[in-house]
Amino acid sequence: MKRLRVAIDGPAGAGKSTIARRVAEALGLLYVDTGAMYRAITWTALQEGVDPSDAPALAGLANRVHLELRPEGEGARVWINGRDVTPFLRDPRVTRAVSAVAGVPAIRMRMTELQREWARRGGVVMDGRDIGTAVMPEAEVKVFLTASLAERAKRRVEELRRQGHACDPDQVERELAERDRADTARDVSPLVRAPDARLIDTTGRDVDSVVREILTLCRPFLRGEGE
Ligand code: C5P
Repeated sequence: MKRLRVAIDGPAGAGKSTIARRVAEALGLLYVDTGAMYRAITWTALQEGVDPSDAPALAGLANRVHLELRPEGEGARVWINGRDVTPFLRDPRVTRAVSAVAGVPAIRMRMTELQREWARRGGVVMDGRDIGTAVMPEAEVKVFLTASLAERAKRRVEELRRQGHACDPDQVERELAERDRADTARDVSPLVRAPDARLIDTTGRDVDSVVREILTLCRPFLRGEGE
């Protein structure tokens, strides 16, 4: 069984989930999308009428709900209290509120605990904002993926349109910049590159070449793991 742990962090729209999924698939590892967990708790807060800026109420929610990440195929589904909430995670209202919710220490503590259970088993590619710094600082391979704001906004607009959502490109860019600012400025586990993470700028690069670069970083750790 493979034990390799790969941590992929970076700002919104840098291509993390597409690339993490491809790397996991190529190496036969599990892909763990930690953003989906923060989105699921945010969706639940909105459903229950909890204000995303009410930290004590969010802390209560984090302790009350049962959140389960179930890896499936190339992706994962998130269940809250026995209900599959995956279809709601990309709702624009969730995207707007998620950074505020993710900044609450009690929420981070709970999510980090669950994510570390996956890390302990090993054999994972995990993507997020604090994976190489806080969740699995012991990961063998750490990558910090980035791209220019304009490129990230362009990709997000294409993705939204593909999914059939109408969107205003200027607004998408403003919201991405705001989410990066909030994720970088928070006190607990902010978005920051781990000193030992390989910085990869994906601006103008295709997915295949970035995946190949990460696979090359993984190769030395796979010797003796069946490769
Ligand atoms: O990766 P994704 O865009 O789905 O993440 C949604 C939000 O969840 C991020 O903007 C961030 O606020 C939060 N997040 C986090 N730590 C992680 C993963 C996501 O704070 N490890």
